Amino acid sequence: MAHLKKTPFTLDVVDLLHRPGDMRERTIDAPAPGGWGNAVIGVRADEPIHIDARLESLHDGILVSADVTTVARGECVRCLIDVEQDVEVEIQEVFAYSQDEAFDYEVHDTHVDLEPVVRDAVVLSLPFQPVCQDECTGLCPQCGVRLLDHPGHEHEAPVDPRWSALGGLAGLTDTDEKR
Ligand SMILES: [Zn+2]
Ligand SMILES: [Zn+2]
Repeated sequence: MAHLKKTPFTLDVVDLLHRPGDMRERTIDAPAPGGWGNAVIGVRADEPIHIDARLESLHDGILVSADVTTVARGECVRCLIDVEQDVEVEIQEVFAYSQDEAFDYEVHDTHVDLEPVVRDAVVLSLPFQPVCQDECTGLCPQCGVRLLDHPGHEHEAPVDPRWSALGGLAGLTDTDEKR
């Protein structure tokens, strides 16, 4: 059986092994290892992770039920400002005593490692398109200001393309900001 590298997410279950019906509760407060997320939002390294776990001894393994809370950070896909989102997920997983196709996880010697279970649940809960708020209308396609910060923002109608060609010859640019 592979030896387990101990982290704050590994729990000693020696007192529960093969004692079906026994149970206890454990709390974990640990910094996130980092890399929990998708391309646009995630739980950064050292972000505090809080886990309230309940461990129950079964005939074929240890059942772990837990509530996990932390904070994910990323940026709004529309206006690019920083967004912060509370993460609250529940996990329930059996760590089997023996390698068995029915179970994804197993007890290593006298420990269970919650990290992959918690990581998967957290990552699955994250949005692929985080927004700062549902009403976010993004950035002005012409000048890039954040439209929520500039209600009523608009530009004068674009110059007739025949004249803007002449403007270009005269050294003018079309990026002059008009508000
Ligand atoms: Zn936004
Ligand atoms: Zn604009």
